[in-house]
Parts: sequence; C-alpha cells; structure tokens
Amino acid sequence: MSTSTTNPILIVGAGPTGMIMAIELARRGVPCRLIDKKEGPTDTSRSFTLHAKTMEMFEHMGIAHRFLSSGIKSKGFSFNFKGKDERPSLDFTGIDSPFPYILVFNQNDTERELREHLETTYGIVPQWHTALNKISVSDDGSFNLVLYNDLTGNKETLDTPWLVGCDGIHSFVRKSLRLDFEGENYDGMVMQMMDVAHDNFQGSDDWVHYYMSKENFLLITRLPNGNHRVLISEMGETDASDLAPREAFQKLIDGHMEGTQLAEPSWATKWTIWKRLAKQYRAGNAFLCGDAAHVHSPSGGQGMNIGMQDAYNLGWKLALVAKGTGSPELLDSYHVERRPVGDQAILGTDAMHDIIMAHGHGMEDRLALTQEPNWHDDAVSRISGMSYTYQDTYDLPAGLTSLPGPQPGERLPDVKLSDAHRLFDVLRHPQLTLLMIGDKDATNEAIDVARQVAAHNVEAIKPVLVTSQHQEADAGGAIIESVLDTNHSLEAMLATRGQPQTLLVRPDGYIAFRCLLTEQSYLLDYVQRYFTTLSATKAI
Ligand SMILES: Cc1cc2nc3c(=O)[nH]c(=O)nc-3n(C[C@H](O)[C@H](O)[C@H](O)COP(=O)(O)OP(=O)(O)OC[C@H]3O[C@@H](n4cnc5c(N)ncnc54)[C@H](O)[C@@H]3O)c2cc1C
Repeated sequence: MSTSTTNPILIVGAGPTGMIMAIELARRGVPCRLIDKKEGPTDTSRSFTLHAKTMEMFEHMGIAHRFLSSGIKSKGFSFNFKGKDERPSLDFTGIDSPFPYILVFNQNDTERELREHLETTYGIVPQWHTALNKISVSDDGSFNLVLYNDLTGNKETLDTPWLVGCDGIHSFVRKSLRLDFEGENYDGMVMQMMDVAHDNFQGSDDWVHYYMSKENFLLITRLPNGNHRVLISEMGETDASDLAPREAFQKLIDGHMEGTQLAEPSWATKWTIWKRLAKQYRAGNAFLCGDAAHVHSPSGGQGMNIGMQDAYNLGWKLALVAKGTGSPELLDSYHVERRPVGDQAILGTDAMHDIIMAHGHGMEDRLALTQEPNWHDDAVSRISGMSYTYQDTYDLPAGLTSLPGPQPGERLPDVKLSDAHRLFDVLRHPQLTLLMIGDKDATNEAIDVARQVAAHNVEAIKPVLVTSQHQEADAGGAIIESVLDTNHSLEAMLATRGQPQTLLVRPDGYIAFRCLLTEQSYLLDYVQRYFTTLSATKAI
C-alpha cells in the first residue's frame, strides 16, 4: 500500500532530543510529526544524569516536578585513585542555579515523562515502526521524503518544508545529506554497565563514585529504582574475557573495595565509544540535533543533556520562522551557537577521560590533573551546562553603551525578585521576554518602548515592567505585566543600579539584547531585524 501526505515539520527520532524538539514546536502552536523506526519506547536506561541547565529547561517547560519527585539529588562526582589518600571531587552544590546538583534519573524514565507530557498536553504521540528511508531535496529547498512502516508495510511519501534529524549516532538524515561526521574512536576502549542490586557498598548515596586504577575504571551510583548503576571500562580485557558479565564486574569491584557483593543484574550492556562531530549542523532546511550531530566519551554524563539543549536552542527559532513571526536569519545561529558546544563537550569529556579512563597510565599523573588551577570550577560549570555561552557569536552595534554584568549571548542567572517571584518565574512562557527595568520615573519611557516593540511584533515578545514599587502600565490599551523587585536584586545582578534599561531574554534563557532605556533605537533595530512579523512567507 502507498499513501501521500504533506506535513509542516518532520522530526526523525523519538529519543530525548526529538521529544524536546516536538515539545518546543507544540508549545508555540506549530504542528509537527514525530516518527521513530523502533517498535516502541526503550525500556532500558542509558543516561542517568540530568544536569542543572536541563532542569532549568524542564522548569521553563513546566515539567521539572515530574523529575524532582523521584530523582536522586547527587552532590557530584567523587574520585578514588587506587593507592592514593587524596579524594578530589567535582561538587555541584555551589553552582548558581535553582538546581545545584546532578539529578539521577534513568533515561528510559526521562523519555517516558517527556512522552507523557507530549501526549497529555499537546496530543502528540510518536509514530513507532516508521522509518525515514529516502530524502529528496526539491528546488525550493523543501523535502520529498519516503517513510516506511514495517508493521503495516505502508510506504508513504511526504512533502515537508523542514526536516529535523534527531536520529541518533547512525543518523540517516546526516548520511543522506552527506554531512561529514569527523573524529575518531577511543581505540580498544570497551565499556560495560549493569543496573544491579548489591550488598554492603559503603559509598554514600549522594555522590556518584568513580574508582580508578592503572588497569580499569569503575563507577557506582544509586538509581531511583533501588538498583545501583555499575559501569566499568578496561582496555580491551573485558571484551576478550569469556567471564559472565556479573563475574567480570565482581572481579573488578573486588580490586577496589572489600565486601561488596553484586546480585544478578536487571540489565547489562556493552559498548564502544567514539568522538565525532558533524561538520555542519544544518543543510538548507534540514538540521541535526543530539547524537546525530555529536558523540563523545560518557565521562561526566553529558550526551543526552547536550542533545536536548540543541533541540531547545533550535525549537523556538524554528517555531517562529515557521509561523512567519521570526526572520529566517534566526536559523543561521543554530549551527553557529551549538557546534562550538559540541566541540567543547568533546574537549571537556576528553580531559575528564584522561583522568578516569587513561588505562595504562599511573595514578600520580592522573591525580595531578585534578589539582590544576580551575580544574574543579571549569569542569563543574561545563558539565552542568552553566558555562556554555554564545557571547562570541553576538555582534553588538557600534555606538551602543557597554554595560557591566551579563552580556548578550550569555545565560541569564536566576534571582529572587520578591517573596512572590523569582526571575525565572517571570520568564516561564514560550515567548521572548522584554524586561524593562527602572524606577517610577522611567515608566513612561518603558511604556513607549513596549508600544514600539508591540508595533513590530506582538506575538514573539512579551514585555514585562520590573520596578521596585507597584504600578500599572498601559501600552496603548494593552496592560503590560509588571513585577516587583523590592530589593533591586535584578539591577544588582546586572551591576547597573539606577540605570533604567531593557533586557531581551530568549526563551532558552540566554540574553538576546541589552541596552539603556535611552538607547532604545538599538533595541528596536534588533527587534525589527529578527522578530518583525513577516507577510507569512513561510507561515503555516
Ligand atoms: C551506555 C550509555 C550510557 C550513557 N550515559 C549518559 C549519561 O549518563 N548522561 C548523558 O547525558 N548521556 C549519556 N549517554 C548518551 C545518551 O544516551 C545519548 O546522548 C542520547 O540517547 C541521545 O539522544 P538522541 O535523542 O539524540 O538519540 P537516540 O536516543 O539515539 O534516539 C534516536 C532515535 O532515532 C531513531 N531513528 C534512527 N534512524 C531513524 C530513521 N531512519 N527513521 C526513524 N527513526 C530513526 C532511533 O530508533 C532512536 O529511537 C549514554 C549513552 C550510553 C550508550
């Protein structure tokens, strides 16, 4: 049987990345279709880490509670080098986020929560058994695709203007569009892990424990389902070994501690690791997100987190462009912003890999790497996602007064505004937020800015007045939301007390633009360039 349909946006792959993409489009009312060639959801875990920037994203989507209710808050990674007394750690409790920890949560459970949210809130259900198996690009840049359902035998042709490849490490989208995936393998590096109950492990539940010897690496951490994740790597030996997996794990554990006894695992897996980065994250109207674009060592547990952040970066931009309320130029920033993050993740995980999995190298040198200046803070801020910045990609207009504090392209930290509000509460909606910050005297000017921004585009940007005293603001009939910042905390964080200003914040939590209220013409130029409602050229 064969059918023919058209659809606005096709997302290939219903893993964590594809589901974040679907949520970001659906939140903004943009229809999409989510397909996956598997027969159904995965019921085994891979990732167990949800980092702070991911939790901030979930909070912005209104779904953080789904993860907080049963996830385990881990303080970070604790390092045990065989034969050494020093116990370095990467401690996440000091990061500047409402989520100062690693939330331990199994990947299959993360995927289930995202799936349930997609279905109950937006009525979107992944279409399983459905493989993309042919891509033709039309003259206008849109796609003619062939999908095959291996359950029904149905072959379907589909025309779509936008294609998002969230289809994992062996991405069909990437290969079909001939996008290079450059890098190398960690030669001979074999990883095994199991989810298992055990007796008598002495490590505390609120750390992820790393054990290193010259020959091997062992990770143990408690999982929310009562099991522990036990991960091992050895240079080739495990692969060649004919030991049953549990016995191999037990032997390795015995080399690091006494008395811990493993039960039979509920799940075990073995895999080899790569480091690869797509040369281009975008080809015309097609995009790569997640493992389709980057893979690296599991050190620090970042792959899934970075993949979901790719989709979070692209989702709002694609939604605005597809609706005709954002300039197509917005989409150019996806590759420019996210490929360097993939690159830094590879470098960062490589550096961590040299400490925890440099098999054959002595403990002394590896321990010394943890004592280098800034090792702790650099690693924690990178792994948590706090330090990734797009600042270098932002060109500020000549003549704009330079302000201290967080700059365009940087993540805007949270701050407590009053007993009733945190800044992140004010930003929690699908639009960009235009924060107009000033005292009572600046209100009229702020309202004028809001009115002019509204004249360009009412849909993409939500103006919010931030003042220390309560006031109602009316911009030509539309009441502007106003929030109290009783202690001038936002001004303090911006390091500009007493200088009325505007701050345009992207839906993914990064600063898009910032200027003094008296320099509003620069802001209006920026808004006009990126967010003026188009005459619906690509509107759906
Ligand atoms: C053992 C292990 C442990 C890990 N631990 C961590 C960790 O602790 N922390 C962390 O952040 N990351 C971790 N990772 C990495 C993490 O699992 C991945 O980064 C994550 O799954 C990537 O998500 P994704 O949605 O991009 O791709 P995937 O999860 O691979 O999903 C891609 C989907 O696309 C579908 N697909 C492929 N081709 C097609 C096609 N032609 N048509 C339709 N559908 C298609 C596939 O069936 C699949 O469901 C770990 C990985 C492994 C293997």
